[in-house]
Amino acid sequence: MATDYDEVRPDVAEARKASLDAVKSANAPDARSVAADLDEADTSDGVNLPGADLIEEDLTVTVLPQEDDEFICGSCFLIRHRSLLAREANGVAYCRDCES
Ligand SMILES: [Zn+2]
Repeated sequence: MATDYDEVRPDVAEARKASLDAVKSANAPDARSVAADLDEADTSDGVNLPGADLIEEDLTVTVLPQEDDEFICGSCFLIRHRSLLAREANGVAYCRDCES
């Protein structure tokens, strides 16, 4: 039984590394959470805008291919332009809003 734990550890480390890599490169989960936030905001307003669905679809498609001059803030998870980059630590970037 004890040896099983030793064999599990590398897998856990790999999984953590994989998820870290996913956050660093694709940022797909961030884009989805942003879309979810927008959806919640729309329903809480009680206003059903005709273009709401279109806006959400547009975000889902266009946000994923992150531009070279943009980064995802590791604190507020918003897509920021490079000019708003305040700090970068361990491959995670932070925007000026979060660092001020
Ligand atoms: Zn931020």
